[in-house]
Amino acid sequence: MFGTNIGIDLGTVSVIAYMEGKGIVLSEPSAVAYDLSGNIVGVGKKAYEMLEKNHSGIKVVKPLHYGVVSDFTATKHLLTYVISKICKNMVFKPTVVVCIPSTVTELEKHTLLDIAAASGAAKACLIEEPLAASLGTGLGSDKPKGAMIVDIGGGTTDIAIITMGCVAVSKSLTIAGNAFDECIQNQLRRERDIIVGAKTAEYIKIKIGSALLRDVELGLTVKGKSNITGMPLSFEVNSTETFLAMRPCLEKIVEGIRSVLEESTPELASDVLESGIYLTGGGSLLRSLDKMISSKTGIKTKVAADPINCVITGIGKALADIDILSKNGYVFKTNTQLNGYEDN
Ligand code: ADP
Ligand code: MG
Repeated sequence: MFGTNIGIDLGTVSVIAYMEGKGIVLSEPSAVAYDLSGNIVGVGKKAYEMLEKNHSGIKVVKPLHYGVVSDFTATKHLLTYVISKICKNMVFKPTVVVCIPSTVTELEKHTLLDIAAASGAAKACLIEEPLAASLGTGLGSDKPKGAMIVDIGGGTTDIAIITMGCVAVSKSLTIAGNAFDECIQNQLRRERDIIVGAKTAEYIKIKIGSALLRDVELGLTVKGKSNITGMPLSFEVNSTETFLAMRPCLEKIVEGIRSVLEESTPELASDVLESGIYLTGGGSLLRSLDKMISSKTGIKTKVAADPINCVITGIGKALADIDILSKNGYVFKTNTQLNGYEDN
């Protein structure tokens, strides 16, 4: 077969690409920056650096918002950038497997396939995130025993029970890493009249955030702006107030896990009790999240190895054994079968 097989994990926060035989070849923020005339001035890392700098002549677009493709043109620009960057010296167009959040509708799936073709793929196929994540955790595609995958990304938390390589029950919540950051921002504005940017809130979460109240409180000095005077200020934030800010979001994730278990058959639910819950996605790196979920559900919970790259590792496994995809009903469409997404 001509051309290379490549996999792309199109996340709300980052886009990660895998090339068969090479492994992970690209990992950059999912962002595209435009000038006022709509010309691209940066994609990926370069676009992210322009975010929140308030340059009036530049607009930074995140193609996916809360797991939904909110800007198809920006998605095409992002995919074109990824495919052309990693396949720059190749004669033949690649076969591309794109991983998408499970909230994407049938109509969006069609458009995404068209976009993949218009972005430089010879053949394209879409794969749902929970299935890729389960392959990445090493759960295998043909095991009859059900296991639960909870992928906590930036925009969505995808909760699914996987059995025999298929998603048996699933649910997608728009509460994930970005929502944790927003909770921190809202709490600081409400309780202390301080405004912080999304990047600072994320920094606070990563440095001192925890899903359980810490025995020893941690403090962190960060920069923000007074909501009263509008003046910049440096202030200390602590782990207890960060925990309290995020707690409602964390409880919603536990509720989501419970409701997926309730919707599943008794056999599958008891399989999950035995095999456990696997956490993937960057959000699962929040301190003590596994312990908190385990204590609230009574089911052993484990963070996958390298959770941020778990989905792309799973896509890599699928690329190496492309039958996994066809066996699970995934269809590859060739360039000519696709309509072509004509926008620039
Ligand atoms: P997506 O698949 O939506 O692109 P990722 O799986 O890359 O998202 O996860 C991104 C989320 O993970 C972000 O909200 C980010 O803040 C969060 N994250 C990354 N590292 C950590 C960490 N050490 N602690 C807590 N959250 C983290
Ligand atoms: Mg993801």
